[in-house]
Amino acid sequence: MSSENPYASPRSDAPPVMMQAGVVRPTSPGPWRRRGTVVAARGMAFPDRCVKCNRPTGGQTLRRKLAWHPSWVFLFVFFGILIYFIVAVVLRKTMTVFPGICPAHRKRHRILLAVGLLCIFLSITVPILLGNFTGADWGLLVLSGVMATLFASVFTILATRFVSPAKIDDEYAWIKTTGLEFRQSLPEWPGE
Ligand SMILES: [Zn+2]
Repeated sequence: MSSENPYASPRSDAPPVMMQAGVVRPTSPGPWRRRGTVVAARGMAFPDRCVKCNRPTGGQTLRRKLAWHPSWVFLFVFFGILIYFIVAVVLRKTMTVFPGICPAHRKRHRILLAVGLLCIFLSITVPILLGNFTGADWGLLVLSGVMATLFASVFTILATRFVSPAKIDDEYAWIKTTGLEFRQSLPEWPGE
């Protein structure tokens, strides 16, 4: 007959959840705030408030796919852009988030997107029109058209990204470019 107490709580050699693998598990529902960032778990719903100004969203969210890699990966640029891209694609982490957005910020986002797309359209079409109707040097037009398209594309991406990641791991994303009032309304993140 076993001498073990059948009423004892089940024993486990695994450390408690709070300590597992050095990761501190939050006990309060998220998202959370951590210094200048908002921490969100994968698939987590955001509160019905704008992440920029903390005003009510009326249930409106913006779908954003965030991608991040450690900053030391940028050192691979010195070995060539292609090498950097390969390392960045292998090491990058992505997470899709649905931050709340108020009507005013949604309007601003749409205007920036429209302006960006118009700039891209013009940087492609204007050199073609100039080449056809003014007899300007095609080499110069193609070069300036490519430069302008690149510039307009970078502007559009930066102006419409809405939120950007400071870090992403397998479970959580640390999100920058959110409003202070929104962050202050969230519970403090217990981890690092
Ligand atoms: Zn807002």
